[in-house]
Amino acid sequence: MKRILLLFFFASAQVAFAQEPTKWQGKFEQLDQTLPTPNEYRSGSGAPGPKYWQQKADYVMNVELNDENQTITGSGTITYYNNSPDVLKYLWLQLDQNNQSPDNNSDKIKTTTLRDSSAAKTVAGDLDLWDYEGGFKIKSVKDAAGKALPHIINYTMMRIDLPQPLVPGQKVSFSIEWSYNINDGLMKRERTQFEYFPEDGNYSYVIAQWFPRMCVYDDYEGWQNKQFLGQGEFALPFGDYKVKITVPADHVVGATGSLKNAEQVLSKAQLDRLQKAKTTFDKPVVICTQEEAVQREKTKLKEKKTWEFHAENVRDFAFATSRKFIWDAQAVKIGNKTPLAMSFYPREGNPLWEQESTKAVKNALEVYSRFTIEYPYPVAISVHAAHQGMEYPMICFNYGRPNKDGTYTPQKKQGMIGVIVHEVGHNFFPMIVNNDERQTTWMDEGVNTFLQLLTELERYPEIDWTRGKPSALVPYMKGDMKRPLMTNSEQVVRFGDEQYAKAAAGLYMLRESVMGKELFDKSFKEYSQRWAFKHPKPADFFRTMEDASAVDLDWFWRGWFYTTDVCDQSIDQVKWYKMRKEQSTIENKDVKAKSGDLASGKSAEKKFDNFNNGPEPFSLVNTDPRFYGEFRSQIDDKAVMAKLQDKNVYEVTLSNKGGLVLPVIIEWTYKDGTKEIERIPAEIWRINETKVTKVFVKEKEVTNIVLDPLKETTDINQQDNVFPKPAEASSKFDDFKKKN
Ligand SMILES: [Zn+2]
Repeated sequence: MKRILLLFFFASAQVAFAQEPTKWQGKFEQLDQTLPTPNEYRSGSGAPGPKYWQQKADYVMNVELNDENQTITGSGTITYYNNSPDVLKYLWLQLDQNNQSPDNNSDKIKTTTLRDSSAAKTVAGDLDLWDYEGGFKIKSVKDAAGKALPHIINYTMMRIDLPQPLVPGQKVSFSIEWSYNINDGLMKRERTQFEYFPEDGNYSYVIAQWFPRMCVYDDYEGWQNKQFLGQGEFALPFGDYKVKITVPADHVVGATGSLKNAEQVLSKAQLDRLQKAKTTFDKPVVICTQEEAVQREKTKLKEKKTWEFHAENVRDFAFATSRKFIWDAQAVKIGNKTPLAMSFYPREGNPLWEQESTKAVKNALEVYSRFTIEYPYPVAISVHAAHQGMEYPMICFNYGRPNKDGTYTPQKKQGMIGVIVHEVGHNFFPMIVNNDERQTTWMDEGVNTFLQLLTELERYPEIDWTRGKPSALVPYMKGDMKRPLMTNSEQVVRFGDEQYAKAAAGLYMLRESVMGKELFDKSFKEYSQRWAFKHPKPADFFRTMEDASAVDLDWFWRGWFYTTDVCDQSIDQVKWYKMRKEQSTIENKDVKAKSGDLASGKSAEKKFDNFNNGPEPFSLVNTDPRFYGEFRSQIDDKAVMAKLQDKNVYEVTLSNKGGLVLPVIIEWTYKDGTKEIERIPAEIWRINETKVTKVFVKEKEVTNIVLDPLKETTDINQQDNVFPKPAEASSKFDDFKKKN
């Protein structure tokens, strides 16, 4: 019995396990120990668990901009809700502005070199030679009764010690007064800045990370109080904001949230235009015109006006203000909501901005809403600021300025559309699906760059978009200086190539080449819905994508996210066979397996390095009765033989030189000129991760084989993806000529 079973398994197993596993690295093993253990807060399915909780922070703030000396003065009351099961003795707040203080750590840890000649601006930046005194000045921290609260500032973090511990289910209110000097974007490029326009002597401001913001406290790491060093952005709890912004009376303000006192800050004509924009879906309505803006540039009013904005369920609040702003808006239909897509820009942005900005906002809202969740907020704003590309809830700051005479290159326009789609897209990741950028950047930058590409390809097909496509990633994948995607933001070297482009290309590959569009889109939407207005971690994404699709992707997460392995598949050998015409009979019991026999399990001795040598013959022999084991019936050997009669049989040997396991995509070109693309799942590498051999049966004669013909896999060496190799074929031909 043992013997019969052995024979039986031998017969069926020889095709699948034709090669010995070599240098096995467990590339298909489950990520078990690598991912955090699921618990009642975060389920093994990747969904929030039954006891998932998150904190909430509401803000009521007053802020005044001083346009004379470019400073911000603010005061506010924060109400913090402890929904956690933990008792909190202290609270942590982020003071991002402190990363711009004269004594800042960013400059201290910056490595610098000197050249024999350098631009003054570069050296001033490298050595921090600016006369700029940034950083928060915290005037007071008080409890609800107005009593000073003990607090300690550790660089970009402030700890407030509570008089009574904050028990689960309770809230605490406290107030803070602060001020700081705004940085000139020309010198210190930060996510927030002012820009001075010497022609008319005015400023425009994009103001962000401008108030002490509550840190995230969660089930995953307690207080997320990792210091801000400049690269890793931030994570914040959701909450409601009521903010009054006082600016010169001739300023126009765009901000997170709904404008609550339009009647007090806009003219009758502007109010009417704003009303009209709310029902205009085909093109932007200009609310503050360029003529009005040019007029305001001259008035330079000293009086002040206060603009009031309310925002619900947002993770931050930012605003932009200038007397130079032109403002346009149009309604966008998203489900049963009609949010306003809006743009604020100085005349220096035209004609590009009046033509393209609000349109790009609309395109982003529509496409992202389809792939994720319907855009839930009342407005989405794009503000023009020089050399900016930064996102906040409902508002983002974007570059793309034409030349002085209004002309611009196609690249300028493409860059401007790209950045607006990208920054508006950030409303979804990380503003709504609230991942922690300071720890894991790809979760919003990569995911967002991927959706940005889908939006661009769909809405701007006339432009050649490449970022986020696997084919565009090849030069990066060929180079060194790589870090795994699962690297903390501050340690990333090739920030744009890795956290943006590589992560995006990975998702693009999953959708196009691994999971297929339907399964990917369903799973991705599931992730977006599960984690909208919550705080997901990488494992929640990895698990949800598998949970919703039945595709085991641990090998993909392992290779693409946790290593720097690259894809380099090659065709090592191709052998062409045809079955012999004369067939063996049942009497022919002890037929010896011949070289080239499919049944022999041994590899043929002769190599077929090109197709010109013609096929090698092989024989099928009748099945030895011992192969049937306990079965009483027999298969029809002749029928099997008939299936192979006159067929072209190819034995192809491939190797995985880069280490990364990915699907094998083969393009067959036949003698009649037709082509066929065959897709083999990555699991072909599961036994032998470096070398596989597989037999293919083709009706037609093959003249050419190409791996990854559509450049889907980031294969770093396309040279060895082709058979026969053009160069090799000709040199072989030369050898042949010499010999004869
Ligand atoms: Zn981004």
